[in-house]
Order: sequence, then structure tokens, then C-alpha cells
Amino acid sequence: MAKVTVIGASGKVGQSAAYAISRIPYVTEIVLFGREGGEELLEGLKWDFVDAFAAVGRRIRVTSGTHPSLIKHSDMVIISSGVPRHTGQDRIDLAKKNARIVAGYAEMAAEQAPDSILFVVTNPVDIMTAVALKHSGFPPSRVFGLGTHLDSMRLKSFIAQHFKVHVSEVHTRIIGEHGESMVPLWSATTIGGIQLKNLPEFRTFPGEDMIDWVKDAGHYIIERSGATIYGPAEAIATLARTVLGNENRILSVSAYIRCEVHDIGNICIGVPAMLNRKGVFPIPIRISPEEVDDFQSSVEKLRKVTDEVFEFLGNDEGKNLL
Ligand code: NAP
Repeated sequence: MAKVTVIGASGKVGQSAAYAISRIPYVTEIVLFGREGGEELLEGLKWDFVDAFAAVGRRIRVTSGTHPSLIKHSDMVIISSGVPRHTGQDRIDLAKKNARIVAGYAEMAAEQAPDSILFVVTNPVDIMTAVALKHSGFPPSRVFGLGTHLDSMRLKSFIAQHFKVHVSEVHTRIIGEHGESMVPLWSATTIGGIQLKNLPEFRTFPGEDMIDWVKDAGHYIIERSGATIYGPAEAIATLARTVLGNENRILSVSAYIRCEVHDIGNICIGVPAMLNRKGVFPIPIRISPEEVDDFQSSVEKLRKVTDEVFEFLGNDEGKNLL
């Protein structure tokens, strides 16, 4: 039995994620939440959802609106509100704009649903996860972001296509920033349980090209269809199901690390973490020296922007996330 609130439900990702989440058997209530002025749109969506549930014979309560009290007793609060990046706008400018939005909603969620788990989708997601952590005052285990989960799934699917095997035969992971400096963990990539580098085909394996494609996939989709919708929605629903169903799966999400990756810490970044009903718990890992170097570069890049955003928000002690 779980109540899930989606803040930003009037948006493309928010509404499709809410619908994907409504199929999770443990979810008994969904709140479609948005900012003031969006009540009518949210109400329309609510009744469309109700029709869909009637069509499939699903019993689930749906509410919608903009009043903070709707969030009360939520087990999970998902934040996908944010402004999209305009052509020519730099990432830091976008980060500052979205940080204000996410900070406000994180505070609201903490006030209304103090025992909930906060799940951040808004980009740049690693920095927004840090903002939500700080502004909710929640322990790190109860705040996480979509991080590199979708990137990891994209890579998994490309590897499966390349080797012509079922996706379930491929285990792989991308860590680091959800962005340019993401780090594929080839050392943790297996096909049918066999390490990638032990396969004869490894010599001709186009790993670099695949990562370039993963990095560009979001832009490629947005350029052609206007938005990434179904990929993020299903990725969000998978993570929500893993947490709410207490599944103890290890997935790559943006989480606060202390020292789990070669003693690097005090940052929110994509890492493998165990997900269950208590929250998100990064797994201590050892990776190859090249991967550590790349991860360190990704950390430094994020740390710089995170500090700038915290300075902008007026968190003087921002350099220490807890
Ligand atoms: P969208 O369709 O433009 O929706 C944006 C949502 O944010 C709407 O609900 C909108 O509310 C709300 N919003 C905009 N400005 C706001 C403000 N100042 N205060 C409060 N709410 C505000 O965008 P989208 O495609 O759903 O994407 C949403 C976010 O998810 C973006 O940041 C996007 O980059 C991110 N995202 C992340 C990933 C990932 O892998 N981490 C993947 C996909 C998308 P109104 O309807 O009232 O305007």
C-alpha cells in the first residue's frame, strides 16, 4: 500500500511517469500535483486517469491539485518540475532556475510528508538531488535522483543489440554525472555472466561509439519529437517499484556518497545503490584505475556547479551537503 505524489504532473515526464507508476501493484493512491494556476489541467488529467483505470479494472485513488496538504502521508514524492533548457542557455543558468523550484518543493514535501522518500527527476538531476537533500533536511538514504539509471538501460540495450542477445543477458552500469562526463563501467559489464573483456569480440567492440550515442540520446530524441517521455517514465516507474516493493535491487541512481567509490564523497552523483522501502544505499565498489580517474573528473565537474548553485541559493555552508 503506497501513496505517491508527482510534483510537476502537468509536464510531459510527470504525467507519463504518474501513469506508469499507477500500474505498480503496491500503489493505491496517486497525487497529480502542480503549481497554482494549473488546477484545471491537473483535474482534466485526473479524470482521464480515472477512465483509464476503469477501462483496465484497476482500483486506485487519484487526486489532483496545487494545495500542499494533498502531499500529506505520501510514501514517495517525485519532483519533475522544471524549466527546459533553451538554445544558447548555459547549464549553470538552468541549474540555478531549477534549483529554486526544487528547493521550494523539497521543503514543502519535508513539511507535509516528513517520512517520505524524495525522488528527483528535474535536470541537471545530480545537482537537483543535492538541492533536494539539503532543503528537505532528510537523511541521504531518503533522497535520490534518476541519475544514470536510464543511461545504463540505454547502454544495456545497445550492447544486447550488438551481441544479438536478450537484454537480460547483459549486466552493465554507467556511473557519474547524468550528462557529458558519465562513466561506463566496462569492468562491471558482463554478457551471459562472462566479463566483456574476456569475449573474443571485445577487440572490435565499439564501446566509445556506444557511449557517445548514450550521451546524445536525449538530445537526439528531443530534436525529433520535442521531448523524452516514455523512456524516463518507465525508468522512473522501475525505480519507484523497486523502492516501494522493497525489492533490494542494485540500480544506478543519483545518491549522496560518503566514501563508497574509492573514498570519494560529499557529492550527489550516479552510483550503484541498493533500493528498498527504507530508501537508497550506495554500494561500496572498487573499479579500474582509468574508471576512477574518469569518475573523479565527473565528481569535480559536478562539485563546481553544485557549489555555485548553493552559493546562489544562499546556503553558505553549501560545500558540505549534510
Ligand atoms: P515540461 O513538459 O516542460 O514540464 C515542466 C513541468 O515543470 C510542468 O509541470 C511545469 O508546470 C513545471 N514548471 C515549470 N516551471 C515551473 C516553475 N517556475 N515553478 C513550478 N513548476 C514549474 O518538461 P518535462 O519534459 O516534463 O521535463 C521535466 C523535467 O524533467 C526537466 O527538468 C527535464 O530536463 C527533466 N528530465 C530529466 C530526465 C532525467 O533523466 N533525469 C529525463 C527527462 C526529463 P506548468 O505546467 O504549470 O507550467
